[in-house]
Amino acid sequence: MARISKGFLNLKENYLFVEIGRKVREYVEANPDKPVIRMGIGDVTLPLAPVVVEAMQRAAGEMGVKETFRGYEDSGRGYDFLREAVAGYYKSYGVEISADEVLINDGAKSDGGNITDLFGEDNVVLVSDPVYPVYVDSSVMNGKSIIFADANESMGFSPAPPLDKKADLIYLCSPNNPTGAVFTRAQLQAWVDYAIACKAVIIYDAAYEAFISDETLPRSIFAVENARKCAIELCSLSKTAGFTGTRCGYTVIPKELEFYGENGEPLSVLKYWSRRQGSKFNGVPYIVQRGAEAVFTAEGQAQCRERIAYYMDNARIMCETFDALGIAYTGGKNSPYVWFKCGMPSWDFFDLLLSEKQVVGTPGVGFGKNGDGYFRLTAFGSKENTVEAMKRVRELMNN
Ligand code: PLP
Repeated sequence: MARISKGFLNLKENYLFVEIGRKVREYVEANPDKPVIRMGIGDVTLPLAPVVVEAMQRAAGEMGVKETFRGYEDSGRGYDFLREAVAGYYKSYGVEISADEVLINDGAKSDGGNITDLFGEDNVVLVSDPVYPVYVDSSVMNGKSIIFADANESMGFSPAPPLDKKADLIYLCSPNNPTGAVFTRAQLQAWVDYAIACKAVIIYDAAYEAFISDETLPRSIFAVENARKCAIELCSLSKTAGFTGTRCGYTVIPKELEFYGENGEPLSVLKYWSRRQGSKFNGVPYIVQRGAEAVFTAEGQAQCRERIAYYMDNARIMCETFDALGIAYTGGKNSPYVWFKCGMPSWDFFDLLLSEKQVVGTPGVGFGKNGDGYFRLTAFGSKENTVEAMKRVRELMNN
């Protein structure tokens, strides 16, 4: 008899986006003359940079020629040209990692969820509240218990390590989805110190690092002392370079990072993760890896930065709106998310904003209890829509 892995029975229904979709659909059907502006989207809307498209076209041409055709990639960890380009990218902002610590994947979500496979069921996983739901779901799926670190207004939505509790695996995300909060170096150092004291591993999700423009803020956990002893970093080209539909990301695992065996003997995380990937993953398409390589060229960086600047201009428009309204928010400066205090339960505000002003966002409570009373908007829409949505928000909130 085939039996389900127990963790799956403990998963909560993911109501958030289903519920949003249902409410919007019903509203649009009942009000076909009132166009809705979607400010809840976490997907990018600008197309790929030309240099990326050209690189992928060239690579597609190579795949059609006997001499340059490629089949399976031997290692499944990514071609050296891309792993070296990623290491060079880190170096460009002052972080030293080596190319053989970089593993190429099909996006941060896969590794972010799958990496929990490496850690035994008895590991206690720590996540923040509010949280990107993937960390919770993947931990629940493979039977781990979860503890939460509060991230609330009093701490600018950047959680601090709970020094009275012990964790084995810690998910951190900065710039944060959903709150837009970004860890300072000192805040991140506190997490690294805590992880080392717990002999824990931090899984650091830096999917939005490219949105950080303040040079005093760390773009990588490896900018912090001793992080190589306790952290894995997840990164992605999805938001950096518009790869949400193209699919490419990378995970950095320092060679010296250790976890522990049955008798407390230290084991290499990189070795075991490479072993896991060798058995369960056959790599990212050559064509996509060539496109990703182009992102890290000078021209690619310039073109991607233009796109990020477009989104961050939308974020600026949102921040100016909330500044003018005197409403507290986080994000929007070094992050494409703006997380603001909506003055009522999140779902009530969702309904009000949709019915009165035809603007859709994401209720903060969908990311955890501390999110209630907050609301997430994203900068990934068009400038026209952002300007119009903010005009409507001002009208609503001024009344
Ligand atoms: N991590 C965070 C914090 C995200 O918000 C997202 C996507 O929205 C991802 C990871 C997933 O990224 P990818 O498209 O690389 O799988």
